[in-house]
Amino acid sequence: MSMFDLDDDRLLAEITGRGARRILIQLPDGLKNEGTRLAGLIRGKTGVDVFVSAVPAWGACDLSLDAAARLKADLLVHYGHNEFLRDSSNGVPVVYIPARSNHEVIPVVEKAASALQGRNVGLATTIQHLHKLAEAAKLLEAKGFNVHVPGRGPWSHQTGQVLGCDYFGLKKIQPQVDSFLIIGSYFHGLGAALSVERSTILADPYDGTVKVLDQDRDRIIRQRYAMVDKASKAGNFGIIVSTKPGQSNPQIALSILKQVEEAGKKAVILYADEILPQKLLDFTDIDVFVDTACPRLALDDPERFPKPIITRDEIMVAIGAWTWEHLLERGLVRL
Ligand code: SF4
Repeated sequence: MSMFDLDDDRLLAEITGRGARRILIQLPDGLKNEGTRLAGLIRGKTGVDVFVSAVPAWGACDLSLDAAARLKADLLVHYGHNEFLRDSSNGVPVVYIPARSNHEVIPVVEKAASALQGRNVGLATTIQHLHKLAEAAKLLEAKGFNVHVPGRGPWSHQTGQVLGCDYFGLKKIQPQVDSFLIIGSYFHGLGAALSVERSTILADPYDGTVKVLDQDRDRIIRQRYAMVDKASKAGNFGIIVSTKPGQSNPQIALSILKQVEEAGKKAVILYADEILPQKLLDFTDIDVFVDTACPRLALDDPERFPKPIITRDEIMVAIGAWTWEHLLERGLVRL
C-alpha cells in the first residue's frame, strides 16, 4: 500500500468532468516517482496528453502556471498541497490533490503526550495528516489535556492546518496555550517553534519520533541575531524577489528598497525563480541578501549561501526600524 493517497478516482473525474485534453502534473520531490504511474493511468483511461513537471514543487506557492500556459495545457494538477493562492489563475485551472498520508499518527501522539508542558495544548498539523487531527485531539482530551486547535491563517486555509510559512493560527491561540504539539515533519515543527513563544513538541508520524524543539529554536534565534547584527553593519543589500506566483512580493521589495536607501545604504532588487546560492555569488559587490520569497530559505539553511541572508522582517531590525524584541514577538516566519 502506498503511504499516500493520491486520490486517483478524483483525478480521473476532474479530467473527464472538465473535458481536459492536455494536462501538466506537478508533484513534490518525495512523490515524483508516482509520475510514471499517474501518466500511464491517465493516458490509458482518458487518452489525454500528460506532461509531468521535472522541476521542484516546493508548495502550492510554486504553481507552474507559466509552464502550463506555454504548453497550452488546459489543466494543472498539483499534488501534495492544498489551495494557497486566492487568485492563482492565468487562465489555466488548477486541481489540488493534497496526498493524504496513511502513516499512523496515534502512536506518536501518545508518545509525545508525556513531553507536553501544562494542561493546555495547541494542536496542529499539515494537510497530509489533517484527517487524523480529531482523533489525536480526542486521545489528548482522554488524557486530561484541554486541546486548542488553531483557525485558518492567511495561507493555510483549513482549521488546524499549518504551512511552512503560516503559523498565524498558532499565534492567535498562544495566550490560551501552555505548549504546542505539531504533528508532521521537522520542517513544519521547527517553523512553529520559531513562530511562537511556548514550548513546542514535534510528533513525527514518518519516523515515529518525538522531539522537543526548544533548543533548536534557541540555537536558530542566536544565529539569526548574529546575522542581523552583521546586516546592520553592511552597506549594500540585494533584495531578492521570486517569480513563483505565491512567493512573489515585488511591492514589499520596493518598499524595503526605499527604507534601506532612507537609512543611507545601497540596495538593488534581484529577480529569480529558484534562488540558487551559487548564482548569488556573481553579485560580488553585495554584502547581504534580503529574502522576500519563501522565508524558510533564509531561516533554515543560511550556511548554504555565500553571504548573510536575512528575511524581509529581519531587515527592519538591521536598519533600525524595529527592535529585535518586536521581531521575536511577531515570530520569525512570515511570507
Ligand atoms: S514555506 Fe515556502 S515553500 Fe512552503 S508554502 Fe510557504 S513559501 Fe511555499
